[in-house]
Amino acid sequence: MNSLGVIRVNLLIMGPPGAGKGTQAETLAQELQIINISTGDMFREAIRQGTEMGKKAREYMEMGELVPDSVVVGSTRERLSQPDCARGFLLDGFPRTVVQAEALEDMLETMGIVLDGVINIAVPREKLLERLMGRRICRNCGASYHLRYNKPKVENKCDACGGELYQREDDHEDVVRNRLFVYYKQTAPLIGYYFAKGVLREVDGARPIAEIFADLQAAVSGLPVAAPH
Ligand code: ADP
Ligand code: ADP
Ligand code: ZN
Repeated sequence: MNSLGVIRVNLLIMGPPGAGKGTQAETLAQELQIINISTGDMFREAIRQGTEMGKKAREYMEMGELVPDSVVVGSTRERLSQPDCARGFLLDGFPRTVVQAEALEDMLETMGIVLDGVINIAVPREKLLERLMGRRICRNCGASYHLRYNKPKVENKCDACGGELYQREDDHEDVVRNRLFVYYKQTAPLIGYYFAKGVLREVDGARPIAEIFADLQAAVSGLPVAAPH
């Protein structure tokens, strides 16, 4: 049982690139004792290891385009069927298209589970460029920092594991602009999609990290799954 008093909870965290999904998801998943699955991290790891999936994903990621649905859906389905998802999951970065959202619905139906909530971290477009360009990532554990808003204690070193920090190739300005364009065109329609299903919770992401986290906790504890039985 976790802080919500339930055995299993299945959540999505959404928002534009740079919204703070990764920053919040890790801590939230820990608190809920569920697995945090980031499709972006999954692909970066596959590229690092030189797997087939990594080879397919690489060129799209470098251009700031979406990896084709056929690649993403298959690998996410496989990930969700692993035993460590049995207590639930927090999915970060999937779905990113309506086709993926429909595929997720099918997957969950086959697995006999429901989506308990979708949290959208809303951040105005003008803040995103600065957040993404100042982002630094730990080469070892993937933790996310910012040159100005979330500095590591020691310059260029990860607080969590001491790993070296680097700037993602796709966090350079020209690619960032394309990723934002792709987000508004292909992913933002999912906000309406989940609103219509009655599972959407919006959180204002244009505030300090700790305040957003408190709102996420409140949003999650207000979900039907957490209601006293
Ligand atoms: P996403 O996973 O949504 O793309 P990240 O969690 O990687 O976003 O955050 C993007 C960048 O913005 C990182 O450099 C992170 O340190 C920084 N960041 C995250 N949350 C905030 C916030 N609330 N205020 C300012 N900067 C933030
Ligand atoms: P961010 O945190 O900045 O939103 P991610 O790390 O989630 O970025 O994703 C990085 C890149 O990986 C995306 O720009 C895209 O190319 C690819 N990617 C990740 N998840 C998906 C997905 N669900 N569908 C298609 N492409 C994806
Ligand atoms: Zn680290």
